[in-house]
Amino acid sequence: MNPSVRISRIFAMLTLCVLGGAAVTATARAQEAHPRVPKSVRLYVFDCGVIKGLDPALFNFKREEVKTIDFAVPCYLIVDPKGTLIWDVGVIRDEDFKDDGKPVTQGPSTATRTLKSQLAEIGYAPGDITYLAHSHYHGDHIANSNEFAGSTWLVRPIERDAMFAEKPPALVDPKDYDQLKAAQTVLITKDEYDVFGDGKVIIKSAPGHTPGHQVLILHLKKTGNVMLAGDLYHYPEERGSGRVPTFEYNKEQSLASRAMIEDYCKKTKTQLWIEHDFDANAKLKKSPKYYD
Ligand SMILES: [Zn+2]
Repeated sequence: MNPSVRISRIFAMLTLCVLGGAAVTATARAQEAHPRVPKSVRLYVFDCGVIKGLDPALFNFKREEVKTIDFAVPCYLIVDPKGTLIWDVGVIRDEDFKDDGKPVTQGPSTATRTLKSQLAEIGYAPGDITYLAHSHYHGDHIANSNEFAGSTWLVRPIERDAMFAEKPPALVDPKDYDQLKAAQTVLITKDEYDVFGDGKVIIKSAPGHTPGHQVLILHLKKTGNVMLAGDLYHYPEERGSGRVPTFEYNKEQSLASRAMIEDYCKKTKTQLWIEHDFDANAKLKKSPKYYD
């Protein structure tokens, strides 16, 4: 499907919502391909674009109630001594870039760099990446999924079932991830899943925004505990507001996940990073710099 058609379709759906209310082998391969294995976990933040001018009403907010309405779209690479994990893969496909080096705009979304070029800058190709995981299936988190069809996909069965259902869920284009159907896959059925088996990189269930929405917890040596919170929130103003977006899969579940996660972060002294938070994202170190 033509990208602008794809994005228009996604935003037509959003408008409707408003109106209607073998891992070991993969690890070995990754290490072979990339000899620079760090001693402790690293987090790289990539710039996968921005989404401009979305109506805060989609999120049950008034314009004057939020400082910034634009969204950052980050992608993240986690490099563990035992392998690599790419977490969320953008809103615009790398293949939609032309060779002229110019930014690509599709509907409200713009990306200035490909994910592949940002990986290459730190010495990785998609084929080197051990694991792929998404916070959730919405179109602004999954655009480059097919690039990682050779990685092992970490996903919850309820999310995967929705993604491959005969009638796909709102805000997705199944063509963005159709090659994952045949990818080596780990179906996560536990609340917490230890990605590399060393207790440093944990995927945790936080459903509601989508049926299998999840967050990523990193135990970093210098930075401390960081949570990449997916779309548990979009604006920082949502925290403590009791308000959830108009297009949640299950609002009650979202509120319960938020309460559980806030409690978790407090107890474990974990910083919660709202992925789309534009102002917070602007202050983050970007790849090739990293957090460790
Ligand atoms: Zn979302």
